[in-house]
Amino acid sequence: LSERLGGVFDRLTKQGALSAEDVKTALREVRVALLEADVSLAVARDFVKAVEAKATGQAVTKSVTPGQQVVKIVHDALVDVLRGAEDPGTLKIDNPPAPILMVGLQGGGKTTTTAKIAKRLKEREKKRVLMASLDTNRPAAMEQLAILGAQVGVDTLPIVKGESAVQIAKRAKQQATLGGYDVYMLDTAGRLHIDEVLMNEVQAVRDVATPRETLLVVDGLTGQVAVEVAEEFDAKVGITGVVLTRMDGDGRGGAALSMRAVTGKPIRFVGVGEKMDALETFEAERIAGRILGMGDIVALVEKAQETLEAEQAERMMKRFQKGLFNMNDLKGQLEQMLKMGGMQGLMGMMPGMGKLSKQIDEAGFDDSVLRRQIALINSMTKKERANPALLQASRKKRIAAGSGLEVSDLNQLIKMHRQMADMMKKMGKMGKGGALKQAMK
Ligand code: GDP
Ligand code: MG
Repeated sequence: LSERLGGVFDRLTKQGALSAEDVKTALREVRVALLEADVSLAVARDFVKAVEAKATGQAVTKSVTPGQQVVKIVHDALVDVLRGAEDPGTLKIDNPPAPILMVGLQGGGKTTTTAKIAKRLKEREKKRVLMASLDTNRPAAMEQLAILGAQVGVDTLPIVKGESAVQIAKRAKQQATLGGYDVYMLDTAGRLHIDEVLMNEVQAVRDVATPRETLLVVDGLTGQVAVEVAEEFDAKVGITGVVLTRMDGDGRGGAALSMRAVTGKPIRFVGVGEKMDALETFEAERIAGRILGMGDIVALVEKAQETLEAEQAERMMKRFQKGLFNMNDLKGQLEQMLKMGGMQGLMGMMPGMGKLSKQIDEAGFDDSVLRRQIALINSMTKKERANPALLQASRKKRIAAGSGLEVSDLNQLIKMHRQMADMMKKMGKMGKGGALKQAMK
């Protein structure tokens, strides 16, 4: 697959902005990659369409091919879709005893995952956890949970023969309350496939326990089936999150994307083996890389972007050291500030800028101001940017009108530029002795 993609990317080597053609060509391969990773057809199609609209016209980073650029855009979009909960590893388990309901098909990894999560809560969050098996169909399943509990040092609810799932759930709740547990986990029975009886049972248990979290455990290798299961459980029981198991296998985990797209529920953990510590917090970046299978290209584009930024910063620094600071430099600074999340941060870091930083703060600067200032500079001619002294009243009016702003806005910008240029000149002189270089390191 990588070879095939390599071929496509070699053919797309023009620089500049991504043309519709570039994007289409690269996305055709991306679509195949998604399908090979087991992303469902409809999801792959919608995803590719969304990326197509977003990518066309975007700039191509120097020393990167358009095809590579598209892959990076796809990767970032994948991460966006996959990232569900801000903090997937943290379950909502305040107000003890907090019930966690584990649901899913038989063999998906529910019982194993229940014990893994219990172990994690005990070790990382110092929670007292009680586990209960509600699998009344298979006595062996109850034994299995008890054995795992003993193994990880987590209590399990004593087994009482002949109880229904709902009765066990009630007893678990009681025991958790009396015993002062922080969390109690209900490991439900699974079926080989979805059926009415199972759903009714899970619903009844849900109504008794009113779980804080209902986690669906699905085999990450089952692709489309996993997505259908997720849809069904979400519709009938309502899930708060997903655990994907068997991600230690060869599968590329496309089910993760389909599931996010279809249910919108966050993926919280991934199971990566049979051992009790083989549970990882879900990481969107990691899974995105795996689904796309083009980690090398993504890393390459990221590196190119970093290099380019470093080069730009270096160039700017050299100009500053010479005491040069025109409107283009100011624009570069403004753009940098936007990227770094505001004016204050950057000014605060520059020596001698403390006072200016305070002024800026008092003037009530925010991102929209930065954007407007950049627009003003964009409306200037090349000559005017190099030498703002050329700006006469009539041109000022035009420039302000051209950016939908007032002349006073432009005057403010010019004043700020002058102050900064003065500062640069002083620092440039300082810099001759190496002080600036030192200070700015
Ligand atoms: P349940 O029927 O949903 O309760 O599934 P189990 O927890 O009994 O798991 C079924 C089998 O899958 C067991 O042999 C587990 O050891 C295995 N299993 C569960 N999670 C994982 C995983 O993340 N990776 C691997 N390789 N095996 C797993
Ligand atoms: Mg089980």
